[in-house]
Amino acid sequence: MALFEELQKTTEHLSKHRQPHHADAPILRADNLSLQYQSGYAIDDISFELHTGERLAVVGPNGAGKSTLLKIIAGVLTPTTGQVQIFGNAPSRHICIAYVPQRNQIDWHFPVTVADVVMMGRVGQLGLFRNPKASDWELVNGALEIVRMTHLAKRQISQLSGGQQQRMFIARALAQRAELMLMDEPLTGLDVNSQEEVFNILGKLQQQGVTVVVTLHDLQMAAERFDRVMLLNHQMISLGTPESVLNPGNLLAAYGGHLHLIPTEDGALALGDTCCGEE
Ligand code: ADP
Ligand code: MG
Repeated sequence: MALFEELQKTTEHLSKHRQPHHADAPILRADNLSLQYQSGYAIDDISFELHTGERLAVVGPNGAGKSTLLKIIAGVLTPTTGQVQIFGNAPSRHICIAYVPQRNQIDWHFPVTVADVVMMGRVGQLGLFRNPKASDWELVNGALEIVRMTHLAKRQISQLSGGQQQRMFIARALAQRAELMLMDEPLTGLDVNSQEEVFNILGKLQQQGVTVVVTLHDLQMAAERFDRVMLLNHQMISLGTPESVLNPGNLLAAYGGHLHLIPTEDGALALGDTCCGEE
C-alpha cells in the first residue's frame, strides 16, 4: 500500500506547482547528492547532467543506491546534502516527471482499474478526483492506444501481466505529458517478448522527446540499448557511453567479487550480478 500512496503523492505534488522551464538549463542537473542512513551512505556525492531525449541506464549491484537516486530525482526522498534541478527548478515544483517504482513495491491488489491509474497522470490523487474533463479522457485514451491497452482499460490492475503493468505506467506518463520518465527496474521479471514490447514503447516516448532514466540489473541490455550508462555503487563509478563505462576495471570497482565476466564473440563482456542469481 505504502508505495501506491507514494505514487499518488508524487503525481499530486508534481502536478500542483507548474513552473516555467529555463530554456538553456539541462532537463536534469544533480549536484553533490548524498543520502545518509544510520547504516551509512545510500548514495554519496553524485553529480551529473541529463539532456533532453537521452536514455540513461543506471546499473550497479543490489543495494548500490539505484532506487534511492531515482526517488531523490522524483522528489519522493530528500537528499541529506546536494540538490536536484529539473529545467532549473526543484523537482517537487514540476509536473514533467513520471516516476514508476519497482513493481514488487506496489500493492497490485489496490482496487483500481488500468484507466484509473492512467487518469492519475491527469488528475493527481486517486479518490480525490477533480472531475476529469473531456480533454483528460482524450489524453488517457490516446495513451492507452499507444501502449496497445485500450481493451484492458477497465481491468483491475491485479489482473495484468508484468509487461502490461509497465505499459500501463508508460501510458500514465504519456497522459501526464511527462518530459522525464524515471523507471525503477521496469524489465526485471519480464520475459524477453514483454521486455521487447517495453523497449518499443520507450522508443515511442523517445521519439516524442521524452528523456528516460531506467535502473537495470542486466548489464548487457544496458550496453546494447542505452545511449549512456551510469555505474553506481553508492558513489558514481563512471558515467558515459556503454563502451567507456562497462570496462573490467570499472566493473570490478562496482561489483567486486560478485561478477561473472563472460567474453563474447565481438570481445564485449556479458555480465551477471550473482546477488540475483541471474546469468
Ligand atoms: P538499489 O536500488 O541499488 O538496490 P537502494 O537504493 O534500494 O539500492 O538502497 C541503497 C542502500 O540504502 C542499501 O544499502 C539499503 O540497505 C539502504 N536503504 C535503503 N532504504 C533504506 C531505509 N529506509 N533505511 C535504511 N537504509 C536504507
Ligand atoms: Mg532498487
